[in-house]
Amino acid sequence: MFKVNQNFARLQGSYLFSEIAHRVAEYTKANPDKELIRLGIGDVTRPLAPAVLQAIDAATREMADAKTFMGYGPEQGYEFLRAAIRQGDYAERGIDIDLDEIFVSDGSKCDTGNFQELLSPDVRVGVTDPVYPVYVDTNVMAGRSGEFDTAASKFSNITYIPTTADNNFVPALPQGKVDVMYLCSPNNPTGTALNKQQLKVWVDWANETGALILFDGAYERFITDRDVPHSIYEIEGAKSCAVEFRSFSKTAGFTGTRCAYTIVPKELFGEDESGSKVSLNAMWLRRHTTKFNGVSYIVQRGAAAIYTADGKKQVEDTIKGYLENAAIIKSGLAEIGITSYGGVNSPYVWLKTPDGMTSWDFFDKLLREANVVGTPGSGFGSAGEGYFRLTAFNTKENTEKAIQRLANLK
Ligand code: PLP
Repeated sequence: MFKVNQNFARLQGSYLFSEIAHRVAEYTKANPDKELIRLGIGDVTRPLAPAVLQAIDAATREMADAKTFMGYGPEQGYEFLRAAIRQGDYAERGIDIDLDEIFVSDGSKCDTGNFQELLSPDVRVGVTDPVYPVYVDTNVMAGRSGEFDTAASKFSNITYIPTTADNNFVPALPQGKVDVMYLCSPNNPTGTALNKQQLKVWVDWANETGALILFDGAYERFITDRDVPHSIYEIEGAKSCAVEFRSFSKTAGFTGTRCAYTIVPKELFGEDESGSKVSLNAMWLRRHTTKFNGVSYIVQRGAAAIYTADGKKQVEDTIKGYLENAAIIKSGLAEIGITSYGGVNSPYVWLKTPDGMTSWDFFDKLLREANVVGTPGSGFGSAGEGYFRLTAFNTKENTEKAIQRLANLK
């Protein structure tokens, strides 16, 4: 019989969300009259902006007429969207990005997961701990990890760099060799963000050691602090060592509509077996055009609308609403003596569980005593133990209600 990819056998079950669902279902079954408030969700809840809907509507009508109908488009994305991205996300911040460095896709999950295909199977991968699991699992599938150590909650052959309150959520440079480092800022799950100085340390390290940074900026639009860079290319030298992933998902409510993009600078080179330089931009173009047939025209028109004056304002208002919820959560926690992090440049609030409770014990307490559902930090990695994630994606009313319930906890 044919053989399967044995690397998949090393993957761990998606324990976190299935275990949450299981505990919530059990509790609900035993307590059908209790109304739960979910502050664990990582999905947006507010609708698409009116400007986006208008653009989608107009594009849909174009599809109804043979004269304006659109078939296959360029795999890298239509020029109207890439030009809007170049202007709105980069030129206006003083960053020069060429159109052919922008690759539009249907999501940052796919892009952050697929990019490792361009790299040799034996590159050493580094991640921060806790971590967005896609970075780890896609490298496990590709055979870059060893076995999973259940006690340590880590794969061998992957370098985990803790980001906790002890280091102010700033990952230290790796001790041993790391060829590819995934950085996510503002971070999921910690909600914290690296400032320019902190990110510069990583860019300098990558240029000095010849490493690649895969920089995930999925939560860029939530940045409020002035010294937090919106793009890694605000840091000098980043174009020769970093790829940047951006998504319209959290930016503009596209989690169900699907649109994202990746920047692969033309100054970025890896090395082949003979030591010759190879352009990652050329490789990603080849991969993208071979394996992907583009985001739908209708959706790209919708995405481009967030760069219009109306669209920009509407998207900002939505983000502001989420950030207000984050502020409500943070001040509510402070009032009851719970320390929290993040939530200022991010929709995620990362709290320290009180009295040294484990993440799962705190989950159970919140579920049973406050009927609030959050996400245990240990589910994102061993360094997340003793932390807990609450998200700002519920309504203001529910967020306030949840915080009131927390205040009544004993
Ligand atoms: N990157 C991070 C850090 C995320 O948290 C998420 C979604 O939760 C994604 C990427 C996925 O983005 P997309 O919806 O564009 O696939």
